[in-house]
This record gives sequence, C-alpha cells and structure tokens, in this order.
Amino acid sequence: MIIAIDGPAAAGKGTLARRLAGYFGLNYLDTGLLYRAVGMAVLHAGGDPADPAAAELAARQLDPGVLADPTLRGEEAGGAASKVAAIPAVRAALLDFQRAFAARPPGAVLDGRDIGTVVCPGAESKLFVMASLEKRAERRLKELLDKGERAIWERVLQDMKERDERDSARSVAPLVPADDAVVLDTSELDADAAFAAAVDIISQRRPAG
Ligand code: C5P
Repeated sequence: MIIAIDGPAAAGKGTLARRLAGYFGLNYLDTGLLYRAVGMAVLHAGGDPADPAAAELAARQLDPGVLADPTLRGEEAGGAASKVAAIPAVRAALLDFQRAFAARPPGAVLDGRDIGTVVCPGAESKLFVMASLEKRAERRLKELLDKGERAIWERVLQDMKERDERDSARSVAPLVPADDAVVLDTSELDADAAFAAAVDIISQRRPAG
C-alpha cells in the first residue's frame, strides 16, 4: 500500500503523513528532506543551489545518512531546496531512491510535491493537503518562534509566497494535485481533525477486506 501526500509548505503534510504511517503500519519518507539535503550540500560546498551542475553533483552524491540532521528543517534549507528542486537532473537523480523506498514492504507514506503525479502515480491513496497562504504563514511563524528563532510575520509570509511561486511555476514536476487526488483543506482543521479526515478518505478508497 502506498499513500501519496502532496501539497504546499506548512499545510500540515508532515505531521499528517507521519501519523498515517503509524496508523496503517507503513514506512514513512519526508521527500522534502532529500531536496533540503541537496540544497545544504551545495551551500556547504560554497556553491549556488540554482547552479545545475553543482546541484546535480550533490544529488548524485547524496548520503541518506544526513537526512536526520535537524538543521535541514530550517528556513535556509527550505529556500535552497526549492531552488535545487527546479533542476530536472536533480529530480531525476532522487527519483530512484524515492521509488525504491516506496516499493519496500509493507508499503509507505511519502510526502512531498510530486508523489501522486510523478514518483508514485499508481499509489492507492492520494491526498493533496492545502491551506490558505495566511494560515500556512501563521503556522510557520509560530513554529519558528516556538523554536526560539527570530521571525517576523511579513518576512515569513513573503518567503512562503516566493516558495509557492517557485514550486508551482517550475516546468518540471510543478506543484499540482494529481487528477485522482482528494484535496484536503486544513485551513480550519487542527492536526487531530485533519488526521481523522484523512483516515476517512483513505479507508473509503481501500478495497474492502
Ligand atoms: O516539504 P518541504 O518544505 O521540506 O520541501 C522543501 C522544498 O523541496 C519544497 O519547497 C520543494 O521545492 C521541494 N520539494 C519538491 N518535491 C518534493 C518535495 C519537496 O520539489 N517531492
């Protein structure tokens, strides 16, 4: 069983995907971490994440062992990730890893931007998790302040808007719901309500028995 969870930044995908994996007994991969790790590898090497050659090299040399590094969750890594993610050779280099992960028994929940459209188009369940730009920026601001980071509303909102535009406008694997995805708007839902709604949607799609 494969569950594909796609959607924009800070829509609640990660929390939801992790909980679904626990509930259905599946493996879990946060595919954003792969792009974040590639972006940070380029920055650490003194390069520009928008440079196709540097980014492709970093993607080919990616060591999955670095995915646990907590600095990958930061804003710097998120910005670098959305730049390397627009480079087709980077996406191609990360595709096999994601597909191999999804194919491992007993199955997996993967979250990202193109899981239902490109990585696992045959997934049994596809959710497109979204929320309004303002709600997502609000959540991201709270997350940053809770971590003790300095953040201001206008900046967080602007960064989120730019990241949305880069993810939606790129020519390769842009952020769009798969034709057979169910859209889940979490603007007015807390984490528990979003989880309950997702379990409902997935259970309805599963073959009986
Ligand atoms: O989900 P997360 O915010 O960690 O993703 C960081 C960036 O990585 C996104 O803004 C997007 O550009 C890119 N990404 C992607 N495809 C995925 C996962 C993430 O392009 N499957």
